[in-house]
Amino acid sequence: MVIDSIPMVVGMAYAIIATLMIVVLLRRGKFNKRVGYVFLVVSTLFGFLVFAPMLPYQFQTIILGNTKQLGAPVALAVVVLVAFVVLAFMFGKAFCGYVCPIGTLQELIYHIPTKKVRIKNKVFPVAFRFVFFVAFIVVALVSSVGLLKYLGVRDFFYLDVSSAFFYVFLALLIISPFLYRPFCRFLCPYGVLLSLAAIKSRFKLRRNENCIDCKKCGEVCPTNEAGRTDLKQECYLCNRCKYVCPVDGIDYTGKEVSVQQKA
Ligand code: SF4
Ligand code: SF4
Repeated sequence: MVIDSIPMVVGMAYAIIATLMIVVLLRRGKFNKRVGYVFLVVSTLFGFLVFAPMLPYQFQTIILGNTKQLGAPVALAVVVLVAFVVLAFMFGKAFCGYVCPIGTLQELIYHIPTKKVRIKNKVFPVAFRFVFFVAFIVVALVSSVGLLKYLGVRDFFYLDVSSAFFYVFLALLIISPFLYRPFCRFLCPYGVLLSLAAIKSRFKLRRNENCIDCKKCGEVCPTNEAGRTDLKQECYLCNRCKYVCPVDGIDYTGKEVSVQQKA
């Protein structure tokens, strides 16, 4: 279904505009479930129609030096990849949350009401993804092979059902109603960079002085990042914590409320 005549820069421009809009809406407290769904659906459609902004795949293409496949000038693609790491450093993972089609498709599927599997150990997914990241880089540099191909990212969004790799990505989607974002949390090489940047992001979802420590946010957070001191490196800004809070105790803010201040 990907329309090759639409240049990828269209997807990249969408990514920048959408990410900045999301940040502004979050800052102004105007982001809600309905707005979130609109971004999730539009971004997913971009994936199927333009195969952009597929930044994990573009990251792989650049590592491989396969500039022909890029569909955009190399310098522009590098600037965009770096720009989104900088944006994650400032505003958290808004791109992953609502703009990357790979992430948005998994996020939409996770909304299917089923029993959810929560991995309590926070280190395991991060460590697994880091090991995959190292393997991804080594295999790309040594053998010029892009592992994302074998995960079916391109074949799935191109709806190439004749490719065996299509079914690898399909399998990841089949577990996505139960397990939150398996690709993002366990495999995405570009997500490693965005997560590292998000650790130090200025703006995050933070508990404010209204918080009564009811722990409801922690119960709904699929990545165990809702705690007061959590780094939010795996926070996808899904807002589940904010929506469930009974006292409006969470803000998307650059200001930390210290525990003493709260007490
Ligand atoms: S972690 Fe990777 S695949 Fe998931 S949303 Fe972020 S960039 Fe996309
Ligand atoms: S529930 Fe809150 S802390 Fe957890 S991932 Fe979603 S937005 Fe981030």
